[in-house]
Amino acid sequence: MIWEELQGELDALQEAGLKRERRTLELPCGPTARVAGQPLISFCSNDYLGLANDPALVEAACAGARAWGVGSGASHLVSGHLQPHTTLEQKLAEFTGFARTLLFSTGYMANLGIVPALVGRDDAVFADRLNHASLIDAVQLSRADSQRYPHADLAALERLLAASTARRKLILTDAVFSMDGDLAPLPGLLALAERFDAWLVIDDAHGFGVLGAQGRGSLAHFNLPAARRVIYMGTLGKAAGAAGAFVAADATVIDWLGQRARSYIFTTAGSPLMACAVAASLDLIAAGDARRAHLWTLVSQLRDGLADTRWRLLASPTAIQPVIVGDNHAALRLAGALYERGLWVPAIRPPTVAKGTARLRVSLSAAHSEAQLARLVEALRELA
Ligand SMILES: *Cc1c(COP(=O)(O)O)cnc(C)c1O
Repeated sequence: MIWEELQGELDALQEAGLKRERRTLELPCGPTARVAGQPLISFCSNDYLGLANDPALVEAACAGARAWGVGSGASHLVSGHLQPHTTLEQKLAEFTGFARTLLFSTGYMANLGIVPALVGRDDAVFADRLNHASLIDAVQLSRADSQRYPHADLAALERLLAASTARRKLILTDAVFSMDGDLAPLPGLLALAERFDAWLVIDDAHGFGVLGAQGRGSLAHFNLPAARRVIYMGTLGKAAGAAGAFVAADATVIDWLGQRARSYIFTTAGSPLMACAVAASLDLIAAGDARRAHLWTLVSQLRDGLADTRWRLLASPTAIQPVIVGDNHAALRLAGALYERGLWVPAIRPPTVAKGTARLRVSLSAAHSEAQLARLVEALRELA
């Protein structure tokens, strides 16, 4: 019976320390949380700049709702594309330096839309092994030949590209790897894309708003131009503190995606109030140097604080700071011990990360105070 089968598999997940638990938060997204009455300092969210509950964003959302209502009523190509969507797309183009942008409802949907719209059966996708699940799914959906290269290995990628006879080639990478926090070698990837006439699709979910001058993202971090062969995807639910995503690219590419990205066409346009909130968020991001400076101070505080302990931190320069534990149960026990001390850090286990590399994924935000982070450092030192 299917129910018994599923229950058996759920029980197996539980025994392997792989069953994910969902907690209900009794406070809005922020550095402090409450779960089942227990106050916690949370190091879980991707709200890197602390904008998710910022009063200016809340006000922009409320003003947006008063002016434009709540629902968009239809998909973008029917009648759901309202003035706030167009205004936001233009603002995002100016901000990123690309010719045009296109809004999607989520980053997951943007990725599922982009890849199959650009490549198909006769084409090849060259993907970093540590790419986000949404990119992996997007390649499968495209039916293109999938070639995965070892993480950030430009020499291996070069060999694959040189050997390829595919009609179209597309290099696909996270800009900041979501479970490791390190950066893709974007200058080298762009050079290879130029040399082998390939497209370069960059998923900047964790770099947009955080890296580069005024938070313009990973390309800006490396001083790379908005090249024509680059297709840049940024999400709006992380540092931007709102929801949604956008693709920025050459005008023809954006025109094409609007005609062929199925996850753009066959879904209701995002709420206009959210587009208004994101527009306000872009202003806060651009003016957010102080928030970013504080974030980098926190990153140093954590790394310095754990340097002489047995906890191994990955070489991450970003707000994502994983503490590698290894064993699934050990990672869970460590997360549990922190939780008892009022510190909430997620334990990340396979299949999200490779077997034997279970970890605590400490995610820092400009909204954290140094005192809040000091409590985490202290507890981790004790538990070492
Ligand atoms: C979070 C994330 C996404 C998905 O974005 P959503 O807007 O949350 O759907 C895509 N890619 C990467 C690398 C991410 O971390």
